[in-house]
Amino acid sequence: MAKARERPQPPMLRIVDHPLVQHKLSLMRKRETSTSKFRALMREISLLLAYEATRDLALEETEIETPLETARMPVLSGKKVCVVSILRAGNGILDGMLDLMPSARVGHIGIYREPHTLHAVEYYLKLPEDLPDRDVILVDPMLATGNSAVAAISRLVELKARSIKFVCLVAAPEGVEQVHRIFPEVSVVTAALDRCLNDHGYILPGLGDAGDRLFGTK
Ligand code: URA
Repeated sequence: MAKARERPQPPMLRIVDHPLVQHKLSLMRKRETSTSKFRALMREISLLLAYEATRDLALEETEIETPLETARMPVLSGKKVCVVSILRAGNGILDGMLDLMPSARVGHIGIYREPHTLHAVEYYLKLPEDLPDRDVILVDPMLATGNSAVAAISRLVELKARSIKFVCLVAAPEGVEQVHRIFPEVSVVTAALDRCLNDHGYILPGLGDAGDRLFGTK
């Protein structure tokens, strides 16, 4: 195998303005969208976000045999991606990501927001052991206060993930600022940057509680 190609640097905030992503997100935002439709849309958008989030994966050239001749062609280099879902709403993004990257490894971090302080509390952790060899795509549909994202990223940094990207559907400016204040090197990929948070830490206009809408728990 030849030497890995140099990797381009990702932008620190990428808003995916593709028309399909924007259209699907608007449908998800609608109050009357059913649980099954919401879940299907999240899966579809996530596949498109995965496409954007993996733009700068390292490639290397390898020799292959086409039916006609031998040629050197690009393939993904080395150990690849680990998608880490912040439970529980992150699992809605996971499915779409795995549609595109079926052999990616998967990790889970369980974090809940303490309702009064909005502080992040970790209650579950299961990650592959070879994180230092993997690019992590950390997923959670909503980047609101940034507290859960920062808690999850801290854990991944502690475990020496090779690189970390955060992928969400909707981000609040407060959340992006919080993540980049503590982890300026973490690139955020989102379908939308909304206006602000309300007093309960929900994103406006947002789409409501992503976990409840995904699993039909309210
Ligand atoms: N979590 C959600 O599910 N929705 C928000 O608006 C904020 C955090």
